[in-house]
Amino acid sequence: MKSLPCYLVCVLLTVLLLPNFQLQAQSSENEKLRIIAFGAHPDDAELDAGGVAALWAAQGHAVKFVAMTNGDVGHFQMAGGPLAIRRTAEVQECARLLGIETEVLDIHDGELMPTLENRKTVARLIREWQADIVLFHRPYDYHPDHRYTGQLVQDAAVVVVAPFFVPNTPPTKKNPVFLYTYDVFEKPYPFEPTIVVSIDEVVQQKWDCISAMPSQFGDLHSWQASTGSNIPTGDAERKAYLLDRWKQHNKAIADKYRDRLIELYGQEKGNQIQFAEAFELCQYGSQPDMETLKKLFPGS
Ligand SMILES: [Zn+2]
Repeated sequence: MKSLPCYLVCVLLTVLLLPNFQLQAQSSENEKLRIIAFGAHPDDAELDAGGVAALWAAQGHAVKFVAMTNGDVGHFQMAGGPLAIRRTAEVQECARLLGIETEVLDIHDGELMPTLENRKTVARLIREWQADIVLFHRPYDYHPDHRYTGQLVQDAAVVVVAPFFVPNTPPTKKNPVFLYTYDVFEKPYPFEPTIVVSIDEVVQQKWDCISAMPSQFGDLHSWQASTGSNIPTGDAERKAYLLDRWKQHNKAIADKYRDRLIELYGQEKGNQIQFAEAFELCQYGSQPDMETLKKLFPGS
């Protein structure tokens, strides 16, 4: 009997650590997917995955964005509660435009820490959503809130299927697929795209979403406008300039990963794609093969 606890621990670890054990029929024809994306601030998930979210939503899949902090610091003229309220309203409007749900956690901007409490919060959110797919930052990003969001989601990945971790919410029935969103950071290693998604069909929705966040991409004193040179001072010109930065960002992703787009979409279509979002499979969670992964994402 002395070996029983060890046996139970081994069984539990096997269930938790075997990545492929339960990517079952979630990509079958009629089954709707459930996707949750974590961004550090109320604009990150929108920027990184707003296009693919709109595509999923149009297909009837359920998508939710979570901002891990309330964004109450990243502005050069206003801060605190009023900014948090304003930014929550902005991402709510963005979610309406994309056809998804959204939630902003009440954690101060710049103060997110990889605590056990926050790990439980992330695990609960994934479990409550019963997510098939989880998107989030790599933990190598420039901003500590981004890095810790990456750390927290990675740390939650192993426990979302454990019945007795945050037992007041049911574990996910399947081990979700975890994927990182695109970034440009090269150390300790550059982003390696597993899947690249054309967002050409929905770019106007994404641009409308970005335009619906003037505290981030419109105000003269927004972070974006206050930290760049040659930013136009006229309201309309500045907003167009800031939006164009993000258009160029998504265009650069398509150009950078053109070969991958051709592999996924074929020569003709792959060459025509203008705007893209990219995702890298995380080594935690389910590890679907490429054919299965392609079926989970719109387009390819
Ligand atoms: Zn951010």
